[in-house]
Amino acid sequence: MDKHLTTDFHEACFLVDLSNVVRDRRLGEPGARSLRRLRLLVEAAKALARDPDVKLYLVADTSLRHGGRREFGDPADIRLLGSWVRRGLVEELPDADDRLLELCELTGIPVVTGDRFRGARGERPWLQGNTDDFLEPLPGPGGTVRLVPVDMGVAAAVAISMKLEEDALKKQGLLDSRRRPRFDVVSRNWRCEDRRCTLYDTARGAAALLPRMRRGAPTCEVHGGVLSDDGPRTATVQLKLLLDGELKARFTLENGTTVPVGRAPGPAGIALHGLVPPERTAGLSRVHVSLRISDGIVHVLDRSSYATTRWRSSAGRGGPGAWRALGTAEERFGGGDEILLVEGVVLARSGRRFPTELAQEWQRRRPLPPGAADVTRKH
Ligand SMILES: [Zn+2]
Repeated sequence: MDKHLTTDFHEACFLVDLSNVVRDRRLGEPGARSLRRLRLLVEAAKALARDPDVKLYLVADTSLRHGGRREFGDPADIRLLGSWVRRGLVEELPDADDRLLELCELTGIPVVTGDRFRGARGERPWLQGNTDDFLEPLPGPGGTVRLVPVDMGVAAAVAISMKLEEDALKKQGLLDSRRRPRFDVVSRNWRCEDRRCTLYDTARGAAALLPRMRRGAPTCEVHGGVLSDDGPRTATVQLKLLLDGELKARFTLENGTTVPVGRAPGPAGIALHGLVPPERTAGLSRVHVSLRISDGIVHVLDRSSYATTRWRSSAGRGGPGAWRALGTAEERFGGGDEILLVEGVVLARSGRRFPTELAQEWQRRRPLPPGAADVTRKH
């Protein structure tokens, strides 16, 4: 179980609203609170990410451990939770909701929760109509749990439309705007002035929390001070090699590099010879595709002898799209995209996106216009 937990957002595939999951009786198990529901969720996350080592970033309300202890059917759950918090595997704080939404906004990592955050929509208008960032755990067949994308819908409330009017003012430049995620924060390392503090240290310790934003400044969760900039964080992107849907290998690509991938692409490349069984390498070219990572955007170029490489997006609400041929020029290889080299041999990008990509997406999803919530209320 522990090996699936991290508070390093670089490794995390999903953010989990732990209090919500542990309390969700629909997921089976007797009792008001059960950690077994989280174990079922891990299985669902493995299946969805097609990654047996999938990592979750857990955020919990302080009240999960400290309030209503008798609601846990198994006292061992409370001890285990306590040990996770001490070892930095769970971020525990008074208001988990706000932190989850902040992390989602900063990193683009999807949130697993049954909550619709209706009360937070004034503060965070991007929740309105959102279909990309939330997954709900629901009971699956045979006592399992599955993860289903959520349409957050449009919550109607007078408070929201007032807030949206205020946002309209912001757009006109009358108030200062924070419409985009703070990718300037995500792409830097941070250091707490307290010398014993290692919460944000990427060199020491396995976990490196993303700083909490207070009044627009990255702040230490424990010591309360404004963090100082500790230089750029190496931007990397993770790539998975899938063989017939099973994870075979994982690669990390760095910003500013070009990496050939194929049967035998040479020293700077990713050689699939040895990873893919010999009978499957027949259709693989020596260099099959080139991946170029620049300014936080991944590009793919089909270099196969017969231009046989296919591409699809697997991150859509309706599941994976149809395969289509890559063009003769470079194309975007975005978060959640997959590339089919030969039958059953797929390069997949994890859903997590580069800060640059995130900023671009944010520009597409503008908040709904001020009248939108009113229209829904009339129904
Ligand atoms: Zn600190």
